Amino acid sequence: MVDCLFCKIINKEIPSQIVYEDDNLIVIKDIQPVAPTHLLAIPKQHVENVADPKFTEAGLANLFFDGIQKVAKELGLVENGFRIVANCGSEAGQTVFHLHFHIISGRPLSWPPG
Ligand code: 5GP
Ligand code: ZN
Repeated sequence: MVDCLFCKIINKEIPSQIVYEDDNLIVIKDIQPVAPTHLLAIPKQHVENVADPKFTEAGLANLFFDGIQKVAKELGLVENGFRIVANCGSEAGQTVFHLHFHIISGRPLSWPPG
């Protein structure tokens, strides 16, 4: 068993503000938000990042995006827009090696990212 921050959050060993949960994923508020809405969509299965083949096996990626669609709709993010970001690897800025998609919304977002 890996010693993983997000596995502990999923198992409720570490508290978090949960905005959505189903059998496949959990969506929580980021502890250091960079925008008025900054959520983390995290699959319950321990998958390292988007490059991990487990993410696309057994339809997990599809179930995961179903959840993201639901949350974006329920929280009213679709009308004004939102960004999803998955940092993959340390040079890309990944600090927690359990796959998560940032869902960022509520202010104009510049491009390209830093
Ligand atoms: P990464 O840098 O891997 O793309 O994103 C990790 C994210 O997890 C960061 O935005 C960071 O603020 C967030 N984070 C780190 N520790 C915790 C925590 O204990 N609780 C919550 N809710 N978010 C966390
Ligand atoms: Zn994990």
